Amino acid sequence: MQVTIIGSGYVGLTTGVALAYLGHQVTLLDKNPAVVSALVKGSCTIYEYGMDELMQSARHNISFTTSFAGIGSSRVILIAVGTPPKSSGDADLGFVENAVAQIAGHLDGTNYPVIVNKSTVPPGTASRVKTLVNNILLGKGIYSGVKVASNPEFLREGTAFLDALYPDRIIIGAEDRSTTEVLIELYNPIIKQSFTAPACLPRPKGYAGPVLFATNPLNAELIKYASNAFLAMKISFINEFAGLAELLNADIVDVAYGMGLDSRIGDKFLRAGVGWGGSCFGKDARAILYTAQKYGYSLPLVQAAIEVNDRQKKLVTSKIRSSLKTIPGSTIGIIGLAFKPGTDDCRETPATDLISELLNMGAFIKVYDPMAMENYQKQNPGLPVEYAADLADLAAGCDALVLLTEWEQFKNADWQSLRQLMKKNVFIDGRNLFDPRVMDELGFVYHGVGRRVRV
Ligand code: NAD
Repeated sequence: MQVTIIGSGYVGLTTGVALAYLGHQVTLLDKNPAVVSALVKGSCTIYEYGMDELMQSARHNISFTTSFAGIGSSRVILIAVGTPPKSSGDADLGFVENAVAQIAGHLDGTNYPVIVNKSTVPPGTASRVKTLVNNILLGKGIYSGVKVASNPEFLREGTAFLDALYPDRIIIGAEDRSTTEVLIELYNPIIKQSFTAPACLPRPKGYAGPVLFATNPLNAELIKYASNAFLAMKISFINEFAGLAELLNADIVDVAYGMGLDSRIGDKFLRAGVGWGGSCFGKDARAILYTAQKYGYSLPLVQAAIEVNDRQKKLVTSKIRSSLKTIPGSTIGIIGLAFKPGTDDCRETPATDLISELLNMGAFIKVYDPMAMENYQKQNPGLPVEYAADLADLAAGCDALVLLTEWEQFKNADWQSLRQLMKKNVFIDGRNLFDPRVMDELGFVYHGVGRRVRV
């Protein structure tokens, strides 16, 4: 199937490469010439596990462009552009509208690709997009038969290809059966699991394919927001209890494990830490609050999830303050800049707020991340921090280390040797990656989140 994807960011690029791997003819279109020329040269603009292998085997099925010319010959157009927050919290649909206007401007009435919103957009956007396209076409004297569907994306950065090839569910929000059929055809290899699994991403044991749920566009749009708000709430819930566990000298890791054994609760997203980051949870929670408000309605659980997360982010600073006594002049090493492991994405990473707070207090900051240093430096030009070459370089001379991203390689590092390189021995584990007893034995003054203060 001929597919064009508008936007070659985290969602567009991974979706495009996965669809090309499955045998579709994919055109990846991005307005940013730097992104397109890097992709044409074969260098990937984002880090995602499996990208090199999939890109290599799918290469003959993908082309890259900045141009909308010829877009009318696509069977499906997936819109995967950013929907950043406005200061009001509402989703800014400027990029979506711009893409839609360009699509409509290049349609001539001979062929109508199905236009699909993959971007996270407020309920009602599919019908807004349809009106926009129809009005532009009417202006050219064309009575349009264009169809607009919603197909929200649920991939997680860090496991994007795993999620693309072996998803839990595919949600298709279309206004009629024939549009749904087109999208079923697009996802058929995934639905039937009829493709040969890539060597780097074998089919998970017992996986029998996704649940396909066809509904209308409005429901599909709301499913995405309700899902993200629920996950954000689940993280905030366990973080709220982590604070109480600490006061009681209980251990939130054991508490979460015990809770997760109940299949009604489940063990996912019950990991206490410094709070969520990334470009989606906060943005989407605020956007759906805004939508509710427009209808005179409130979503107090979603509101509380945001407030708990904001409080959680401040926790690390108070832990550093109480264990170092004085912050000005101290050297603090930040372990992890990506908002989660497996990605180089630093958007809304907890590291940013913490670093700026500590710098304001007069600390000297060193940072290290195995994947995200280049991105972080680009996004924060001139930030007065030292970028360390590795963990040893980071630990050298530090009064405290603060772990913010739970990369697997951090878990397996030689912490005994790293401890010897430090000036003092404070370790704040913002992701509860380590066993407090082990860190105590290695000579660290260890603080997790919601863990027993002294073991
Ligand atoms: P991104 O910022 O990484 O990528 C967006 C890309 O779109 C950029 O490369 C930009 O240059 C391009 N673009 C913007 N306007 C364009 C236009 N008019 N024409 C062509 N290209 C254009 O964004 P992302 O993280 O991939 O997110 C895209 C959407 O998917 C958002 O709505 C987001 O909320 C949603 N989403 C993201 C994730 C995630 O994990 N990143 C997961 C699910 C859903």
